[in-house]
Amino acid sequence: MAGIEVNALHKRYPDGTVAVDHVDLSIGDGELFVMLGPSGCGKTTTLRAIAGLERQTTGDIRIGDTLVNDLPPAERDIAMVFQFYALYPHLRTRDNLAFPLRAEGLPKAEVNERVEEAARLMRLGPLLDRRPHRLSGGEQQRVALARALVRRPRAFLMDEPLTNLDAELRADMRTEIKHLQGELGTTMVYVTHDQVEAMSLGHRIAILNKGRVEQIGTPLEVYDRPASLFCAAFIGSPPMNLIEVEVADGKLRSKSGLVLTPPPNLPRDRGLVAGVRPEALEVTEPGAEGSVPARVVSAEWLGDEIIYVVDHGGQGDVRVRMPPTVRFDADAPVGLRHTGGPPPVYDVSTEELVA
Ligand code: ATP
Repeated sequence: MAGIEVNALHKRYPDGTVAVDHVDLSIGDGELFVMLGPSGCGKTTTLRAIAGLERQTTGDIRIGDTLVNDLPPAERDIAMVFQFYALYPHLRTRDNLAFPLRAEGLPKAEVNERVEEAARLMRLGPLLDRRPHRLSGGEQQRVALARALVRRPRAFLMDEPLTNLDAELRADMRTEIKHLQGELGTTMVYVTHDQVEAMSLGHRIAILNKGRVEQIGTPLEVYDRPASLFCAAFIGSPPMNLIEVEVADGKLRSKSGLVLTPPPNLPRDRGLVAGVRPEALEVTEPGAEGSVPARVVSAEWLGDEIIYVVDHGGQGDVRVRMPPTVRFDADAPVGLRHTGGPPPVYDVSTEELVA
């Protein structure tokens, strides 16, 4: 097993597109590291460079102690699982699993042993004698994962492996992958554009935007203190409310008069935006203590919660997460109040976190 170091990785395609722009990643041995970002941000190119399927323009990649820049994929000792399962259609599950091991020339007894172990881990026992056309999409993806496992690589690289599965199966497979990674302790780099997947799987998450790393942190760090306005707008559903604020009398206030708990060391010489999670706001009866006048624009009832869209003094709409028992009608005059701790605060012009 091995950690992965990526230093100043840069990839410019022949048509001039810069897909990866000086990316640094330090992935620990045994870590489940997620790369998250919108379409086109460079996740796949970074992963393919680690795998050796794409040659970087400049920069270094190390797997364990080995500088792998010039090694072909087969010599990097990694296993990759893609969004499309790519099983051999004419082979039974058992032989699909054994194929890479036979290709390596391993003795028959060892091939059998490893196939049995992977089948046990991925619970494929009853499926060992079926061909792919008799497997469901989820089963095929489990076989694809098992085929990556049997090789006992130093690291797994996964590119949106669950994208083609339905929501329920995706959730099951997520649990399975997390459990498996924990059990094997093998380093895993997992690419996704799905923040729920990233949050639930990753030990740490790298958020990429336009080929650059915007933030690296644990799911909690990334959720609580997004490092830039881009991250603030990207993580969370609904995302953070970005509210223009100013500092007056040691308080942090929006133009509508909404008072927020101020973080320490607020800069005063620049335009500021506070990132306020929908669960850190509260819709109240009009005139409630600490509230500013507001109006319900709309309400989305989601069963276990209601997301209110609220206008506060013409300062734009904010989203507020409330329990389903608190009901206000659309257009009703209400109050809006901040209930959370100090929010992260951003510089309007640099879009960076400043407090
Ligand atoms: P997605 O989630 O859509 O797969 P991604 O974050 O994985 O996106 P990449 O596939 O790494 O992004 O692509 C990054 C950028 O590089 C995009 O602008 C893409 O159009 C461009 N790109 C990818 N492959 C090539 C190529 N072979 N030639 C030119 N540009 C490319």
